[in-house]
Amino acid sequence: MNNCWICGNFADSKEHKFKASDIKKAFGKKFDAYLFNGEKVQPFNSYKDDLIQFPKIICIDCNNNKTRNHDNAYDEFVKYAYSNHQKILNEKYIDFQDIYGNEMWLEKKIDLYRYYAKHAGCKVSTSEFEFDLTNLSKFILGKDVCEDFVLKFELKQAIEILIKVTNKINKYTHLYNSETIVYTAGNELIFGGWTTNNYITANWVIGKNISDEDYLRMYQETESVLLTDCKFPIENKNENDEDDKFSKIDFMKDTHLKYENGYNNTPQKKINFFEFLIENN
Ligand SMILES: [Zn+2]
Repeated sequence: MNNCWICGNFADSKEHKFKASDIKKAFGKKFDAYLFNGEKVQPFNSYKDDLIQFPKIICIDCNNNKTRNHDNAYDEFVKYAYSNHQKILNEKYIDFQDIYGNEMWLEKKIDLYRYYAKHAGCKVSTSEFEFDLTNLSKFILGKDVCEDFVLKFELKQAIEILIKVTNKINKYTHLYNSETIVYTAGNELIFGGWTTNNYITANWVIGKNISDEDYLRMYQETESVLLTDCKFPIENKNENDEDDKFSKIDFMKDTHLKYENGYNNTPQKKINFFEFLIENN
């Protein structure tokens, strides 16, 4: 029995690792899909599968009522990011007024950040390490800054190619959650990871006081995005092994993982990347 890490009440709800509506929209209610967790590939065929949900670490009220606006802000954001991929690529920034309109953009943008804060907090909460998520939960419940949270959007060219090529063969939706990277800076634990919905990746970092009080990016109408090209080296383990039969799962595991990791293809490079995000927030 756990308590909800957001409000402290009895945790009686499973939060989806991917938004259930993303999965329903992409695949319907029954389908064949695969989940990668950074190490393994596992098939699943329902949006209710336990595989794609966190165990019960939050309560129904937090999951359904208190974070409903955050979910809506996320839905609008990923829909926009999908249809406006080329525009974001050309301009190298995201215009939140263009997404949410000129009256609501700031409120909805902060709600979007809160959506990712809930996702990241669930990742931290289900890791094997202890971390005080009080600042994060205060932010989710309405505080307008979070000292412990950094978020940075990114477009990955390799993933764009993967989506376009795979779509020629089959209707393809790319949803990806990274493994959680944990490291220490001084005496403090830092957690980092990312989640991708088709073309748009959101990188998150959680750690004590990693973001200044005057955390400005969240309040800006436009926000620059990282553009990652696809010139990173890809090593193939079995180059000489010509007898290897083609396996769809092995192919996906290999390609998707390498394309998502990009230049950050070792644990140390991932840590350096999260440190870079903290420095530049
Ligand atoms: Zn709760």
